Amino acid sequence: MIELHIHLEGSVRPRTLLELAKEQGAYMPTYDEKALERYLRVPNCCTDLAEYLKRFDLAFTVLQEKKAIRRAVYELVKDLDDQGVLYAEIRMIPQYHTLRGLSQSQVVEAAIAGINRGVEDSRRIRANLILCTVRGADEKDNFATIVEAMEYLRKGVAGMDLVGDEAGFPTEMYVEQFQVLNQEGIPFCVHAGEKAGPDSIRLAINNGALRIGHGIHAIEDPDLVELIKERRIALEICPTSNLQTGVVTDIKEHPIKKYYDAGVRVTVGTDDMVVCDTTLRKEYTLLHNAFGWTREDFKKMNQYAIDAAFLPSMEKERLRYLLEEIYNG
Ligand SMILES: [Zn+2]
Repeated sequence: MIELHIHLEGSVRPRTLLELAKEQGAYMPTYDEKALERYLRVPNCCTDLAEYLKRFDLAFTVLQEKKAIRRAVYELVKDLDDQGVLYAEIRMIPQYHTLRGLSQSQVVEAAIAGINRGVEDSRRIRANLILCTVRGADEKDNFATIVEAMEYLRKGVAGMDLVGDEAGFPTEMYVEQFQVLNQEGIPFCVHAGEKAGPDSIRLAINNGALRIGHGIHAIEDPDLVELIKERRIALEICPTSNLQTGVVTDIKEHPIKKYYDAGVRVTVGTDDMVVCDTTLRKEYTLLHNAFGWTREDFKKMNQYAIDAAFLPSMEKERLRYLLEEIYNG
């Protein structure tokens, strides 16, 4: 399985959050592991955005030290390997880990160290980071993230993403940023079409985005769906997350079915493994139950994911070989 859409801050083991909080004397809403697990899991269709975001704050509270960041990333790589993931692109927001004095560079170095050790101690997973800039953040902090992506590209960083409040800070505000990424040869995706309409997605694609995070609202615009197909843009769909944030209210109505049937390159991700209480397997089961998709369908989506991964072609070949082995074995 290939995982192209997972955020570190929503995927830290609850026990680790607790242990780090105790070590650091940091605040947690509860110090009981089971209670914390329950707190972290968002109920379906959590309409209160502030409530939803509070879950991620817990990770940012404790992931402000190199050792803690290294550990969280290491454990995530191990967890994904245990689940049978062959390759993962793990998103993080470096500027949110600088509250207690780390530089973005130190944050990224610590995360890459966590990836490298995690890969070494695992069966066969490979992983890279995707560094995220944030809608509405200070321009200088976003630019500092781009500088880190330039520095570590193909040395632990695969590409970039733009996350955050799509309605409040529309995609057109970030066209200049996309141009810098294009000039620097940094592949990128954009979280778009989740809280804003088709134009947000179109703008991202026309400015060089190779993948779109979610892209739910593209379905409202047939010409856009055609454009996504023609340009071989991958949509990174995270079904459980979409239900939780209420962008889709019933899995049977999820546009992933129409996209897939239309030949759009859809890939499946977990978004936030702990907060969404999910794994790739659970997502596949959800989709299987809703649409009757089989192993062949999921194999195809994994092939799309390999094609869309921000990897050199040799690495993709290796993944194609492994995928074939798994699905035919
Ligand atoms: Zn996401």
